[in-house]
Amino acid sequence: MNCSVCGKPATIYNKSGLPSCSSHAKKTTEAPLCPKCKVPMKLRESKYGKFWGCTAFPMCDGVVKIR
Ligand SMILES: [Zn+2]
Ligand SMILES: [Zn+2]
Repeated sequence: MNCSVCGKPATIYNKSGLPSCSSHAKKTTEAPLCPKCKVPMKLRESKYGKFWGCTAFPMCDGVVKIR
């Protein structure tokens, strides 16, 4: 059974019942909280790639990098 997303050996089933490997298990868009003001963050994109930006931007410049 291979992962329906990346084709690697699947170890779990995701919510839709499709085989998935553990690397996607928690990769659903669950927004982290801003390290500065603790509000849920929003996925943003810059020329450097995607990152979590604070929804209070520009009042708050908190960012969380996506690995
Ligand atoms: Zn996968
Ligand atoms: Zn913030």
